[in-house]
Amino acid sequence: MNIQMCDLRGQYLKIKSEIDAAIQEVIDSTAFIKGKEVGLFQEELASYLGVKHVIGCANGTDALQIALMALDLKPGDEVITPDFTFIATVEVVALLGLTPILVDVDPSTFTIDAKRLEEAITPKTKAIIPVHLFGQCANMDEIMRLAQKYNLYVIEDTAQALGADYFHSDGRVSKAGTIGAVGTTSFFPSKNLGCYGDGGALFTNDDSLANEIRSIANHGMKVRYHHDRIGVNSRLDTIQAAILRVKLKYLDFYNKARIEAANAYDSALKPCSKIITPARAKWSSHIFHQYTLKLNNVDRERLQKDLAAKGIPTMVYYPIPLHKQKAFEPYREFNYGRSFQVSDFLSSSVISLPMHTELSADVIKYITETLLEALKD
Ligand SMILES: *Cc1c(COP(=O)(O)O)cnc(C)c1O
Repeated sequence: MNIQMCDLRGQYLKIKSEIDAAIQEVIDSTAFIKGKEVGLFQEELASYLGVKHVIGCANGTDALQIALMALDLKPGDEVITPDFTFIATVEVVALLGLTPILVDVDPSTFTIDAKRLEEAITPKTKAIIPVHLFGQCANMDEIMRLAQKYNLYVIEDTAQALGADYFHSDGRVSKAGTIGAVGTTSFFPSKNLGCYGDGGALFTNDDSLANEIRSIANHGMKVRYHHDRIGVNSRLDTIQAAILRVKLKYLDFYNKARIEAANAYDSALKPCSKIITPARAKWSSHIFHQYTLKLNNVDRERLQKDLAAKGIPTMVYYPIPLHKQKAFEPYREFNYGRSFQVSDFLSSSVISLPMHTELSADVIKYITETLLEALKD
């Protein structure tokens, strides 16, 4: 058995002829930049998400940066993000001269703790970036309520949850990333909708914000060679868009495969007292970008070595919470003595098992049996 954290090759082989034809068509057209597939993919993704505008860009980090640039923010403004996420979420805040403010996460869903969020709001706070971590949405009803109360922008980092459903308390259902002012995503190969290189996108229902985003991503111009503001060069390649058009048709099927794998993991692992299986928030579907366990009094490093020796890879997302990252040192004073008990605990106790669209029942059985055996004392 050759077990991988993410089996991109197995996934490709099943749709090889469609993908190869789509790539070949772009090469034949030589429209490598801004070819017709980019516009078509943007329309198709917009219709899938039920959002007015989708704007492609070069990667998920750029998407976050462009979203912040499109909003009316000035240096020193505070932007709240969860402490337990990938660095990209706060990196762009700092790069733009804004002040990243970290907030601890909820111990069961690992998403930003809405209760602590309000405590972190100051007169300088201008935006919140909730991260829909590991495939499940943050508590958007509560976040939007606070955003309205304090007049804040919400940028949803949807890099890990494209296709997840958010269930509003009033019964409405929205796709992750379409609730705040802007949603961003990444098409990094291992994401739930991944391309064959780098790619990203922004979503919004706001026409003027969409125009601003398009212009920023294109050197700050609306009319060719008329630059209204400082922008960036961030495009989704035509080849990547062509690949994404093929894969978008399978996104629900892929997410379902992940959910089924997670359910199989759950039923095998739930009885073990040393493991806490992933919680499902009542307000969101969970599409399992990662399948992440909390370990209870287990030597994690040793467990990882034991599993690796049996051919089972594991990963720790994330081993160091942002407030302890060296790069974050200059911003520590802005944490105003807040506690990060939960993210500290999670970074020392979580472990992610292989999770992708090609996991067979046999492989899951082998992984869970080996894991349970390794946890026996
Ligand atoms: C992957 C990821 C990003 C960045 O995406 P890139 O395409 O690699 O730039 C941002 N935020 C989160 C939560 C991610 O998982």
